[in-house]
Amino acid sequence: MNIHEYQAKELFEKFGVATPPGKVAATAEEAGKIAEELGGAGLVVKAQVHAGGRGKGTFKNGFKGGVHVINTAAEAQDIAGKMLGQTLVTHQTGPEGKLVSKVLVAKAVDISKEYYFAILFDRGSSGHALIASTEGGMNIEEVAEKTPEKITKEFVHPTIGLQAYQARKVAASLGLKGPLANQAVKLFTALWNLYLKSDCSLVEVNPLAITTDNQVVALDAKFNFDDNALYRQKDVVAMRDTTEEDPREVAASEFGLNYIGLDGNIACLVNGAGLAMSTMDIIKLHGGEPANFLDVGGGASKEQVTAAFKIILGDPNVKGILVNIFGGIMDCNIIATGIIAAAQEVSLTIPLVVRLEGNNVEAGKKTLAESGLAITSADGLTDAAQKIVAAVAQAA
Ligand code: GDP
Ligand code: MG
Repeated sequence: MNIHEYQAKELFEKFGVATPPGKVAATAEEAGKIAEELGGAGLVVKAQVHAGGRGKGTFKNGFKGGVHVINTAAEAQDIAGKMLGQTLVTHQTGPEGKLVSKVLVAKAVDISKEYYFAILFDRGSSGHALIASTEGGMNIEEVAEKTPEKITKEFVHPTIGLQAYQARKVAASLGLKGPLANQAVKLFTALWNLYLKSDCSLVEVNPLAITTDNQVVALDAKFNFDDNALYRQKDVVAMRDTTEEDPREVAASEFGLNYIGLDGNIACLVNGAGLAMSTMDIIKLHGGEPANFLDVGGGASKEQVTAAFKIILGDPNVKGILVNIFGGIMDCNIIATGIIAAAQEVSLTIPLVVRLEGNNVEAGKKTLAESGLAITSADGLTDAAQKIVAAVAQAA
């Protein structure tokens, strides 16, 4: 799960991470009012979308830049008016861009140097890592590729946690000394506490800035949260903005389905993540392209299968469906009944191949065969993949 920058700012304030004050606005008038409250001059107006690269982005109406430094409240209102309700395209949004429905108005700072700083979950070391670079404000992937020596990594033990010497080491790697180093260490430590207590998997500050009056401040924020820990992060869940997410993935999560949309035309409906991945692989092996990853979990109830069919059919690229269910605890016959009911409810017209295996499989196959619906039964993964690829090719 992600959050907006203005929400990240609230977390920064709560955990004592130095950041310039600011407030969010949903209308141009509101933006003007906040600008006045903040003193009217030396402010920055920033489009709020779940994507980076806003500074260098362009709106679909031609207006340039999702981050503007402004000097009067009237200017703040004018710029906010040009951003709100418009679609911002950045190198991270894809060509379709993202609709801006809120802007952040914040105190601007005079920057003397920009750095990159992040804390993330590091699978390689089975722990956490601090990442820092002198190349702030830049695309960090590009820095990692072209000048990897400009990136410092400091691994943090998951149970011992961040040690003071490690924070100092990272500050030193950025060339910071004296009071600046002390401020950086304070900020890194506060950010570490925020990262750990909020179950983040990534906190990225780009840029971390040194101001001309020698303050170390976080000027931008990107957060990722561990979805599996959301049950104990009520405050974080309250920040979720589903309008920023793929509507199919939002609908899927309501029914306890794990759905990820892909570019192909063969939809998959599978129980279990491992089986779902193997199903996608075998479709590709036989020349097809999966339209999604969809794991209905252990249950695969009629309601879930119906919801899954509806989500799948919401994708206009889908030309066929492969259902691949292993009845371990579940009874294949109950699953078959659910599939038939779901197919009837959505008036399915595209090819449907079903591979069932496991508990009470013969009864399940019989139920499918006697349903009177155009459902193709398959034996094993290869047969299933070949049948759905052929059916889709024939329909095309
Ligand atoms: P991003 O483009 O989505 O990553 O948005 P950022 O928040 O990082 O803003 C883009 C750039 O705008 C930063 O790299 C800074 O150079 C600049 N910027 C952001 N806030 C300020 C500020 O308060 N003062 C000044 N002078 N520049 C800023
Ligand atoms: Mg940035």
